[in-house]
Amino acid sequence: MSPSPFWETKTLAEMSALEWDSLCDHCGQCCLHKLEDVDTGAIALTDVACTYLDLGTCGCSDYANRKKNVPDCVQLTPENVGELPWLPETCAYRLLARGETLAWWHPLVSGEFETVNQAGICVRGKAISETEVDDMEDHVTRWIEAKVKSGGSAFG
Ligand code: SF4
Ligand code: SF4
Repeated sequence: MSPSPFWETKTLAEMSALEWDSLCDHCGQCCLHKLEDVDTGAIALTDVACTYLDLGTCGCSDYANRKKNVPDCVQLTPENVGELPWLPETCAYRLLARGETLAWWHPLVSGEFETVNQAGICVRGKAISETEVDDMEDHVTRWIEAKVKSGGSAFG
């Protein structure tokens, strides 16, 4: 019998830096802009990506300098991942912080990043750069929520 994988046996705080980084599925969702209703605190997701998100790979194009480039770019930690309301429900950090596990399409389970796209989780082909957008409110989207509820890609 093969041993249980590290994400089922360790807490987020116990993971090595390599293990922690491998949890990111490179979906790119956390690099989309969100709008917050000042009255209710409700958060709406848009399909508008940070300038530094590579829309082809869904990775940060200047990860080492992200805090300098985008001062409000949030560093995920074992302490804050369970508290960030805008993290997508599919994010591995959020899932594990809530005692859930990884889905079939996660690269650590499937063995490849392409399954993130196949499952409709990745923003590839679904997002546009903020440099092309005039009014963020025109770009509010619920595609991830719709996808999770229907079990299929809302764009597909
Ligand atoms: S939402 Fe989570 S899994 Fe997706 S890119 Fe951001 S940190 Fe990685
Ligand atoms: S700076 Fe990089 S990591 Fe931060 S939001 Fe932009 S693309 Fe994402």
